[in-house]
Amino acid sequence: MNRPAITCDAAHCLAIFLAPEREQVEAAAAAAGWQLLPDGHRCPGCLAGRGPVLERGECPRCCGSAVDRPTGARCHYCHHIEPHPPEDW
Ligand SMILES: [Zn+2]
Ligand SMILES: [Zn+2]
Repeated sequence: MNRPAITCDAAHCLAIFLAPEREQVEAAAAAAGWQLLPDGHRCPGCLAGRGPVLERGECPRCCGSAVDRPTGARCHYCHHIEPHPPEDW
């Protein structure tokens, strides 16, 4: 299956947003903090001044790398916290 994706247009930024199944990718990206303008896309990390995303990871919002915290995996770039799956406990 070909999932629609949105990439960040900032220089050197590797951020990418993959739409959840059956959702409109633009609406889902906007809800995740992306800015979609006619002249380019910006990921939440770049918008917050923490971009560009230089290292890919597991972040569901920008595909940035994350650091493990007790509460979950926190993205270096957009600061999204993805809670650990229950199997981790
Ligand atoms: Zn970016
Ligand atoms: Zn992120």
